Amino acid sequence: MKTKFSLLQRYLLISLMALFLTSIWSYSAFQNIERENRRIVEEAIPIANAASELLRLLLDQELSVRGYTYNQDALSLEQYEATKRSLTETIHVIRELDHRHPIMQELIRDEALPLIRQMETFHESQIELIKAGDVLTANARRYSGTDYINQFRDVDAAIREDIDNIIQQASLRSDNASSSAKWVIVIVVGIALLLLMTFMHTFRLERSKQALIHRSLHDALTGIWNRRAFDERFERMWDEATETGDALALLLLDIDAFKIYNDTYGHLAGDACLERVAHAIDKAVGTDGMTARYGGEEFAVLLKPRHARQPKEIAERIRQAVLKLNIPHEGYHPLRKVSVSIGVAEHLPVADGVKTDLVEAADQALYQAKRSGRNRVSIGKAV
Ligand code: GH3
Ligand code: MG
Ligand code: MG
Repeated sequence: MKTKFSLLQRYLLISLMALFLTSIWSYSAFQNIERENRRIVEEAIPIANAASELLRLLLDQELSVRGYTYNQDALSLEQYEATKRSLTETIHVIRELDHRHPIMQELIRDEALPLIRQMETFHESQIELIKAGDVLTANARRYSGTDYINQFRDVDAAIREDIDNIIQQASLRSDNASSSAKWVIVIVVGIALLLLMTFMHTFRLERSKQALIHRSLHDALTGIWNRRAFDERFERMWDEATETGDALALLLLDIDAFKIYNDTYGHLAGDACLERVAHAIDKAVGTDGMTARYGGEEFAVLLKPRHARQPKEIAERIRQAVLKLNIPHEGYHPLRKVSVSIGVAEHLPVADGVKTDLVEAADQALYQAKRSGRNRVSIGKAV
């Protein structure tokens, strides 16, 4: 049996698909957060390293200037110049990286750099004084350098705190993102399983619904259409034929002497015989119309409005097909094998009869076939 998806199943499939896409989207969003945080942390590390160098370099600078003040030697001056170069490089590195961290940028620009420049001016002026031979004045103001260093300690602490914050916040965001991702995955998998289970359930329901529909329209013994299906189709085709003006033909068939068959071979054999006859009729009709079990051992064949062959021709073909089954029927003389009698009636577009007239006419024709000796086709009056 062919199974089509119901509306509910289609909605479920769409939801499942949407869920799947959402989970991919959320997963990649969380991945992006992780990646961004990793980048922030990775960038913060070189600034942190460079920033922690600043205080040490300033101390070195201060010591070398102090040494120069005491000894007026070339070595201290060289040390001062080397430290100055390192300081310039370090500041350059920080300036390259700090644009991604506004607070850090502010601290460096507004607090650290002015102080470093002030110290540099002070150190330069100390060196100038020594070079000019004014050792006394230079000595007198040598403690100003320590003041600057102490001021810088506060800036250094602020910078360290800011770097700690940056790293802490980034790792907090990473933790949050990965725990959210974990929950999203758990929820998505849970909902997907529920949807899948619902889908499977509706799938089974849909199958059993279709099986029920099939059963309600088919005969349990023979598998061909049943009386209900025939009535519905007949009603529809009658209305269509009335509208289009097409001819409609009905064949009523009855197995000959079937009571004797049952009496001779038993009811079970009768059932098997019914089944074979039904299939032979159905096969002989083919695509020209529908074959239904009309009652006990009676069948109805409804021909399509534009059937290729004449109704009589089709009826004759059916009769021959049943005979060709060669089902022995010893109690039925003189034929001694199973046969059918067929009554044919046609509804012509010019006539304005009612549906039951057609059935009545086919039934009359069938009665006529029985009376004329069975195993024959009889044509009834057109209605
Ligand atoms: P006729 O040639 O005049 O049609 O004679 P007949 O014996 O076939 O007619 P009648 O209507 O007297 O008998 C029909 C019999 O079909 C009676 C009933 O036992 C049998 N029959 C109806 N339905 C079934 C069925 O499902 N299985 C079997 N085995 N027999 C059935
Ligand atoms: Mg009968
Ligand atoms: Mg009969």
